[in-house]
Amino acid sequence: MTWEDGSQSVYRGDKLRWACPCAECRGEMGAPGRLDRLEDLSTEELTLAEVALVGQYAVQIGFASGHSTGIYTFRNLRSLAEDRS
Ligand SMILES: [Zn+2]
Repeated sequence: MTWEDGSQSVYRGDKLRWACPCAECRGEMGAPGRLDRLEDLSTEELTLAEVALVGQYAVQIGFASGHSTGIYTFRNLRSLAEDRS
């Protein structure tokens, strides 16, 4: 991904999967999400399948497992890229 300022970020499927912001993964209303209960995900879950632009502000990322409810805002992706862990 190339940003407006010219810097580039490369994302791995596993990192994006673990950062999935959807309600199922993150939990909602104080309830734990799926990713809070799991320590491992299958290769299928971690493999990027498709990326679709959502308006001007985000991308929707689908994984080989069929999980595609995560909407990643560019702001989100940018901070993921800066987090080197
Ligand atoms: Zn999710």
